[in-house]
Amino acid sequence: MADAFADSFNRKIDYLRISVTDRCNLKCIYCMPEGGVRHFETSSMLTTGEIIRFVAAASRHGVSKVRITGGEPLLRTDILELVKSIKRLGARDLSITTNGLMLAEMAGPLKKVGLDRVNISLDTLKADRYKLLTRGGEFDRVWEAIQAAEGSGLSPVKINVVPIRGMNDDEAIEFASLTMEKDWHIRFIELMPVGQRGKWSGETRVTKAELIEKISKLGKLSLLEFKGKGPSRNYRLEGAKGVIGFISPISECFCQWCNRLRLTPNGRIRPCLFSDAGIDIITPMRRGVSDEDLDELFRRAVRLKPAGHRLKDNDFSSLSSMSKIGG
Ligand code: SAM
Ligand code: SF4
Repeated sequence: MADAFADSFNRKIDYLRISVTDRCNLKCIYCMPEGGVRHFETSSMLTTGEIIRFVAAASRHGVSKVRITGGEPLLRTDILELVKSIKRLGARDLSITTNGLMLAEMAGPLKKVGLDRVNISLDTLKADRYKLLTRGGEFDRVWEAIQAAEGSGLSPVKINVVPIRGMNDDEAIEFASLTMEKDWHIRFIELMPVGQRGKWSGETRVTKAELIEKISKLGKLSLLEFKGKGPSRNYRLEGAKGVIGFISPISECFCQWCNRLRLTPNGRIRPCLFSDAGIDIITPMRRGVSDEDLDELFRRAVRLKPAGHRLKDNDFSSLSSMSKIGG
């Protein structure tokens, strides 16, 4: 595997997040507007072969960590083929972020074709509340998926929780206490101001300090060593098997360690989640671009990476939905 290619700020870019679809079988209240979003035309979305070709270019530049996300990635009918091919290209760490609704049946097959891990998004442990937050989701299916992922060896199972004041922030202790018996990672992700201007203000966001104060009632919470990669700051409760992580892009910006590029379902390389700058790869690919020129597009995208996002509290992004670019 080649050495990772560095950006203009000398950050080594070895992580690719691929949003394989903007479709979803849920409409979580903080991710999508109630009326849904306009989807990309199928013809304008990357095919299996195009995604794999781009991953090959990325791996020639030292990308060794790949996450498949969406929308809901398990809606892609070629998901097993994608996982198998990406693993064959040498991804050392291949994971999927999913809402889990379709994972119970797919965990075993996904593991078999080379998936290493999953992150399952679950914002509440209450079935009625889950239905409200996701606008219709079935909690039991996700819970079953978590057991199936664990049983299939997709480990460690990571559970993504977005705490929202007045909606689910009263469940921080219940989520944290799951780590006492299970080696799961519970990751509290700070609410990001995506679309829906005015609705998700700074007051709705729950800070890491508040969560730590609540969780500390369960016992001593120790900070684990930071290995200098990844946005999560990880802690462990005394005697716990699992880990509690906090991802706080706004209050504890981690841009200086950013090691990632994103690929959108319609074939744009997006150097930063919160910047509209991007490089079109689908058009050149469909016009027969050579591997050398595709490699140059990859390098150009890496060089485009900004030093950091300029997201401040109450500064709402132009993005209409996280599902369009992949959270
Ligand atoms: N559908 C899959 C799922 O829900 O896991 C993958 C895509 S989803 C966009 C990826 C992650 O982004 C989820 O964990 C979700 O909770 C998170 N997310 C979506 N909108 C968000 C927002 N406004 N702020 C913070 N996280 C968000
Ligand atoms: Fe769909 Fe995931 Fe967004 Fe929820 S967070 S609407 S599951 S893409």
